[in-house]
Amino acid sequence: MRIAVIGTGYVGLVSGTCFSEFGHDVICIDTDETKIARLNKGEVPIFEPGLQAMIEKNSRSGYLKFGTDLETAVSNADAVFIAVGTPSRRGDGQADLSYVYSAATEIAAALTGYTVVVTKSTVPVGTGREVARILREANPEADFDVVSNPEFLREGAAIEDFMRPDRVIVGTLEPRAQEVMSAIYRPLSLFQTPLVFTSLESAELTKYAGNAFLATKITFINEIADLCEKVGADVHDVARGIGLDRRIGAKFLHPGPGFGGSCFPKDTRALFETSMAAEAPLQIVETVIGINEKRKKAMATRVIDACDGSLTDKRIAVLGLTFKPNTDDMRESPSLDILPELIRRGATIRAYDPEGMSEARKLLEEVEFCDSSYATLEEADALVLITEWNEFRALDLDRVKSLMKTPVIVDLRNIYDPHDMTAKGFAYSSIGRPQ
Ligand code: NAD
Repeated sequence: MRIAVIGTGYVGLVSGTCFSEFGHDVICIDTDETKIARLNKGEVPIFEPGLQAMIEKNSRSGYLKFGTDLETAVSNADAVFIAVGTPSRRGDGQADLSYVYSAATEIAAALTGYTVVVTKSTVPVGTGREVARILREANPEADFDVVSNPEFLREGAAIEDFMRPDRVIVGTLEPRAQEVMSAIYRPLSLFQTPLVFTSLESAELTKYAGNAFLATKITFINEIADLCEKVGADVHDVARGIGLDRRIGAKFLHPGPGFGGSCFPKDTRALFETSMAAEAPLQIVETVIGINEKRKKAMATRVIDACDGSLTDKRIAVLGLTFKPNTDDMRESPSLDILPELIRRGATIRAYDPEGMSEARKLLEEVEFCDSSYATLEEADALVLITEWNEFRALDLDRVKSLMKTPVIVDLRNIYDPHDMTAKGFAYSSIGRPQ
């Protein structure tokens, strides 16, 4: 199959690379010329484990190319995947579909022969129909079908998720389009991956429903963690106890500072807006959004409490800035709520993140960025751990203690054992566990 992927970000680049690994002939297109120039030089613009090697391999064998010429790429393709961003629209929380529609307009003019146009971006119900309308209006002669094929990969494990998905959702009832999509995903039949065909609308909604459910699960365990603190229970025991029930499942039951990232916050907001417009308000989702927003901000209070009620002239060491480990993505990371609040309350901040600092520098003014974990800790009044990178789990705690002015740790990811920390002489607080 000849595939064009429009938008070479976290999803487009991973999808295009994995399709080329499947053996398809892929070209990834982006309007960002710098990004494409870097890719053509063998540089990978994002941090994603395993991606660099897979890009190198498939570029060398000629299956994977990068370019800015959308017209040629689309005219040669059997399938065109739209993987551009759909951020929250400023002001109203709805998905900003301007990138999708502008890509559709460009694609329309270039369609030649039967082409399947696939929305891989996360888009609200009705977007696929609108893309089809744009294509038809701009190019009435074109022979195409529009398919929704939402992506479920997780940053940090994107290659594994794409190559071994739990399922592939394909929103089209058109036999010709189903045939093309089946051919594209055929390599996954080796693992008996379910290919689930639905209507366009069902596929579009499946993606949002999935993300909203996961965001709800996280928010639920976060609230249970808060209750555990009040009643002397341990949230990990409770999570294990409920997670072993197969109707519930063990995943996404780890408490933390609130969900962030490029998907859950914007997708829950967009889903809620869709539900309001459809006059079927999703009250659970609305509540989850509200709780999560408050939670991220409330994390600063935990730091203030650990510092005896005041941050004035306190020096705080922060480890971890990205919204989760193994990515450089800073979008809607809890650190973007927590750090400004700590600064506002009088603290000075020294921070370190293994991959997120170049992006963080653009977003967090007044923060001093350090080259290593240990450098952040010098003379610190407290350490706040925001992202659970593996390297933070293995810190030499004696060295940590000797570097700090006062041995105070606020662990927002529960990566250390409270008993060990107390035994080592730290004033240690974490989430939802007896201290
Ligand atoms: P991103 O911001 O990393 O990448 C989007 C890319 O599209 C950018 O490189 C941009 O330059 C390019 N672009 C914009 N308009 C274009 C156009 N007209 N032609 C060519 N290129 C264009 O976004 P992302 O994180 O990859 O997300 C893409 C979509 O996938 C979103 O809808 C998102 O919700 C969804 N999604 C993301 C993830 C994730 O983990 N990041 C997971 C599942 C689904």
